[in-house]
Amino acid sequence: MNEKNTISPDTPVQYLKGIGPKRAAVLQSVGISTVEDLLYYFPRRYIDRSTITPIARIRPDTEVTIVGKILVCQIVQGRRKRFVAQVGDSSGIVQCVWFQGIRYISRAFKNGDTVAFSGKATVYRSIQLVHPDFDKIYEENEPDGINTGRIIPLYPSSEKLSAMGFDSRGFRRVIKSALSGAGDSVKETLPDFILEENKLTGLQNALRHMHFPDNWQSLERARTRLKFEELFYLQLFLALERDKREFSHTGISFSKTGNLTKKFIGNLHFELTNAQKRVLREIYDDMKSDRVMNRLIQGDVGSGKTIISVISMLIAVENGYQAALMAPTEILAEQHYITIHKWFDALGIKTMLLRGGHTASQRKEIYKTIASGEVKIVVGTHALVQDQVEFKNLGLVVIDEQHRFGVMQRAKLMGKGSNPDVLLMTATPIPRTMALTLYGDLDVSVIDELPSGRQPVITVWRRASDKPKIYSFIKDIVKKGQQIYIVYPLLEESEKIDLAAATEEYERLSQTVFKDLRLGLMHGKMKPEEKEEVMNKFKSGDTDILVSTTVIEVGVDVPNATVMLIEHAERFGLTQLHQLRGRVGRGKEKSYCILITGGRISNEGVARVQALVNTNDGFKIAEEDLKLRGPGELYGIRQHGDLGLKIADLVTDGDILDKARKSAVKIVKEHPDLSADNLKVLKNRYFKIYKERFGLINVG
Ligand code: ADP
Ligand code: MG
Repeated sequence: MNEKNTISPDTPVQYLKGIGPKRAAVLQSVGISTVEDLLYYFPRRYIDRSTITPIARIRPDTEVTIVGKILVCQIVQGRRKRFVAQVGDSSGIVQCVWFQGIRYISRAFKNGDTVAFSGKATVYRSIQLVHPDFDKIYEENEPDGINTGRIIPLYPSSEKLSAMGFDSRGFRRVIKSALSGAGDSVKETLPDFILEENKLTGLQNALRHMHFPDNWQSLERARTRLKFEELFYLQLFLALERDKREFSHTGISFSKTGNLTKKFIGNLHFELTNAQKRVLREIYDDMKSDRVMNRLIQGDVGSGKTIISVISMLIAVENGYQAALMAPTEILAEQHYITIHKWFDALGIKTMLLRGGHTASQRKEIYKTIASGEVKIVVGTHALVQDQVEFKNLGLVVIDEQHRFGVMQRAKLMGKGSNPDVLLMTATPIPRTMALTLYGDLDVSVIDELPSGRQPVITVWRRASDKPKIYSFIKDIVKKGQQIYIVYPLLEESEKIDLAAATEEYERLSQTVFKDLRLGLMHGKMKPEEKEEVMNKFKSGDTDILVSTTVIEVGVDVPNATVMLIEHAERFGLTQLHQLRGRVGRGKEKSYCILITGGRISNEGVARVQALVNTNDGFKIAEEDLKLRGPGELYGIRQHGDLGLKIADLVTDGDILDKARKSAVKIVKEHPDLSADNLKVLKNRYFKIYKERFGLINVG
């Protein structure tokens, strides 16, 4: 039978020439079950003559890729057992050495094979590569393609895969056969007009060149096309969600935006920044319109988001509605409440804090006043979304630190009114590409300006051994009448131990170095009243030093605090460190953030601490964090499941994302039901991706 006619993208891989049930099972274990899956198993890198260093030109301490023939390879029993391969090309010979995984390496290639090695060149007697990455390119006596200038794809593999013949070379062979058998029957997944508008190459062509590019340009074109496709369907999803929100609901039109807000703004002892004014105008416009507002305010720590939310809530109240402010932690909710209720009291508007720890009868009373509409502003944690909480007429929902809430919690709170407007706030600045991806269904306002007179926080990295000096520095700061935070990490795994650490340190410090100063202790296990008391004391200046676990991470606002000392800084995430640092530098005085690390720390830990020392810019920090941790960790993407991005990179593919977004938005605008004839391909693909892969259709 002619293979070409019998295999299609849907064919199970085991029917490919040379793959039986056993090898198919190994492929299955890495998610490859059909020929199509194989076509989407992309190389991890490529090499050609331009990227290969001739052996004679290897310089010590540089990263190189070499390609050569294995001249001799053997296990050497010396002082330390090792596997050594002498590798030669036309320019010279070099040694590759392995001390570990000897059994596996010794089977991976044999004399006469052509192999690519990548790694750092070091000198030990002569130049050598220790534990280099390797990919078998050709077996002995196979014709050599490197010197014909072709780009050679190198595939991800593993010990298990390569034991079954799926090393780079093995993958290259089966993928080549899959392409020649089924490449022509791969169906296009984007409509022609989108390909044309965006100057994209067709899918068949793209897949071919992903694996076997003619040159680097054709590879780039292939990658662009495939990245575009990934981002396009994601953007299509977001655009459709947004369309649903804008047109299938009727929101509240808050027509009055006058006296109360003017009075409030007039009474502030500062002037709003231009950025705050701009964002407020955007919110006004949204609230006036009868569309449901779904706006994210993004602003670095200290940029003044709280005021904006307060003014928005005033608009709701002025129009006879209630507003709710939801925060991720008790501490933050309490902080907001303390800040906010003074402002509202002055205007005669009734506010309430809903928190854990009320007795049943207290709760009942609270629920009653909320339901009666007597209370206009309710501040709380996720306790707000409990079933018993009912509003008379909830018109605006504000959610602080929104990335900490799940989609469901947000939806539940919104369900407590009829189509209330929603304002989300985040101090975790999201790089623009991320914002478009994650919040393509939201409008985003950015407060990109700090109130005037703020000085950048001076950030330094110190060792535990520097503590005596730091303590005397702290004493001087207290003498100047300023205040200090000392923060200890709280890790979920060992909450008790860390808590003990903070408590013990508090006691030690109060009895020794700082025995003449006034210390406070705060941690998450304290009762709300206790926390409030500690916080109030610190706010009013009755405490000099607040020793705390990370509960103070967000929202705490004491302008007189000028030093943030963070113990075990290496244990904190970068964004978390930035948030903590944001607790100081809120007043006119010079502020300091002192990061203390102890013992050995990982490279990543070093990178985080260093990044914080290097910049005060929240956007740069977020980008760095994105690089270090990836989007899933950072923005809770997990709650949506995997975004399905295999090759598109949210950090670097902003241009492609823009185009994908424009195309998606245009299509949804013209055909919100995707019903046009030329969208058939797209509609099918869309439903396939989002129904099968994400199970997301009809949940929004
Ligand atoms: P965020 O929530 O964005 O971190 P906050 O709303 O807590 O920031 O504001 C930080 C501090 O700056 C608060 O003390 C607030 O009263 C003050 N603030 C807000 N806007 C301004 C402004 N335009 N000028 C001066 N101070 C401001
Ligand atoms: Mg805030």
